[in-house]
Amino acid sequence: MKNIYFTVGPSQLYPTYHKHMQQALKEDIGSISHRGQLFKEIYKNADSQLRKLMNIPLTHHIFFTGSALEAMERTVQNLVELSSYHLINGEFSKKFFEFSVQLGKKPQKIEVKPGQGFDFKKIKIPKDVELICLTQNETSTGTMIKMDQIYSLKKKNPQALIAMDIVSSVPYVDIDFSKIDSAFFSVQKGFGLPAGLGVLIVSNKAVKKAQQLHKKNVSIGTYHNFLSLVEKETIFQTPETPNVLNIYLLGQICQDMNKIGIKKIRQQIDEKAKLIYDFFDNHKSLKPFISDLDFRSTTTMTIETNGLSKKIITQLASKGFIVSEGYGQFKDTQIRIANFPTHQMADLKRMLVVLASIR
Ligand SMILES: *Cc1c(COP(=O)(O)O)cnc(C)c1O
Repeated sequence: MKNIYFTVGPSQLYPTYHKHMQQALKEDIGSISHRGQLFKEIYKNADSQLRKLMNIPLTHHIFFTGSALEAMERTVQNLVELSSYHLINGEFSKKFFEFSVQLGKKPQKIEVKPGQGFDFKKIKIPKDVELICLTQNETSTGTMIKMDQIYSLKKKNPQALIAMDIVSSVPYVDIDFSKIDSAFFSVQKGFGLPAGLGVLIVSNKAVKKAQQLHKKNVSIGTYHNFLSLVEKETIFQTPETPNVLNIYLLGQICQDMNKIGIKKIRQQIDEKAKLIYDFFDNHKSLKPFISDLDFRSTTTMTIETNGLSKKIITQLASKGFIVSEGYGQFKDTQIRIANFPTHQMADLKRMLVVLASIR
């Protein structure tokens, strides 16, 4: 029996992954130089396919990093001299804030209890804030922030740049990049690839800010900073020897997703989300952690188990379905289920049949 990973990350590999991996081996992708023409073509393809998939305009750069957490650190380093402002609703948004503290900035925050949403009418951001940081889909709790609310925050605070963690909502999340200065993710969640590659999308305005900080002798990072990344990006290279294999695979999988069409992919995710939430909303004892539909995540679902997480996880695993335990303090009381493009409706239905039989 082969396992199916409904885990929130790393997750099930994308269905076409194996085919592309075989092709990569055939083409010796693991041995080519990252300064040669073939790598440039690989970079170009990943860049253009991702732009098409996520509607990323040419006003924005696409950089490759080691992970999403690295992109989070680079974002603070390059866009903040003193003051960032953080919307904290779980462990990843907390990390964003802590990175800013550790980098010697003076971050401010608004924090809600796990599972709660923000009241955007009440958020008052001081005028000296340079960067607003938020986690659009908080994987630790299963909450999401609607893009309209993020745009309204931008409208009310035009002086500040906006940075967004979209690790567990890409490519589902539909972004108007004209209102966003930094968005980042890693590939082991929504793209169904092995871990070890981060993608950082930043605006021209963000690059200008990094230039200003650099001129003022603020440290913006060593081998990876927005200036070194732009310099290499213009010739389709990276400052370091990157994860060539994963960049290749990302381009191929974006191409496959473009063939299906992002509209259809989003629609399929919506359909699966409805099925999952309907199942748990009608279940006798297992209930969605997030009851308010306004901030319930579509891509990472958190379910309360009455302390039966271990039993449920074990029984599902015995049938080949792997789900995530709750995050941190919720380890024993919740499970988390991912709903990414890689997850097939038929597999989901089979998993729900098993779940229904657990007493
Ligand atoms: C997984 C995750 C991260 C961290 O990603 P890495 O690839 O480990 O750097 C950051 N933010 C969110 C919301 C995540 O789900």
